Amino acid sequence: MDDVQDPIYIRREDPAPGVARIVLARPETRNAQSPTLLYQLDAAFADATADNSVKVIVLAADGPDFSSGHDLKAGFTLPCAPVATLQAGLGAEGAEGHYAFECEAFLGLCKRWRDIPKPTIAQAQGRTIAGGLMLLWPMDIIIAADDATFSDPVTAFGVNGVEYFTHAWELGARKAKEILYTGRALTAAEAREVGMVNHVVEPAALQEFTTQLATAIAARPQFGLRLAKESVNRSLDAQGQSTALDSAIALHNLGHANNLARYGSILDPAGAEVIRAAARTAVRT
Ligand code: ZN
Repeated sequence: MDDVQDPIYIRREDPAPGVARIVLARPETRNAQSPTLLYQLDAAFADATADNSVKVIVLAADGPDFSSGHDLKAGFTLPCAPVATLQAGLGAEGAEGHYAFECEAFLGLCKRWRDIPKPTIAQAQGRTIAGGLMLLWPMDIIIAADDATFSDPVTAFGVNGVEYFTHAWELGARKAKEILYTGRALTAAEAREVGMVNHVVEPAALQEFTTQLATAIAARPQFGLRLAKESVNRSLDAQGQSTALDSAIALHNLGHANNLARYGSILDPAGAEVIRAAARTAVRT
């Protein structure tokens, strides 16, 4: 993908036999997701998937935080041809073009990554905010440092939540509603308690713990792992997850369209102050 090579926001490492580690390498913006970063990440996932020496893929992040979410300053234009959807409406004015962009670059890429036919493990430290969850939740297993927090405060901007809307599966329906309604960050311990996170470890042990788990998984036959993954993902689909995702992205874009009509912007411009005010009066549990 020559047109998404510069600047480089993704790094590939090979920490152990059978294990590829793909690293978000844009710490100066807390790994904010520009379209370029997302498509470089997709290319790295595709390369590791096609590489027969790789059995398990780890997703990691440089710097103090896993991801601060979407890079709103980077705009909403693809850096390359679409890979997850057929071109229809990209670049169109109003809600039409933005809906096409989000179906491709946000929901479309996340669905591709959820269904990578190899086990995937994310390791998260520091903050993961809104769009950051879009990189974590499609992974099969999540390991969190004990300083990690997870939040989706975007009801403040007049939309439902991050575009990959698996909240009810990740958190359970009641906790999902509380977190969406308040914007409050979940701690790593809370995330483990509700089943969103598999293990919580000391920050200094995050890399080693994750690599050891990946190595243990890589000792098993590739096809057995693939069949196990597909069986679990199909169970989620049988519960209606893929249909729920398609419904939520449409409602999400109804929110964007409402904001466009009211404010001339896809986000309610008062949202940032709502989030700041909530942080000042935060109720900790
Ligand atoms: Zn959106």
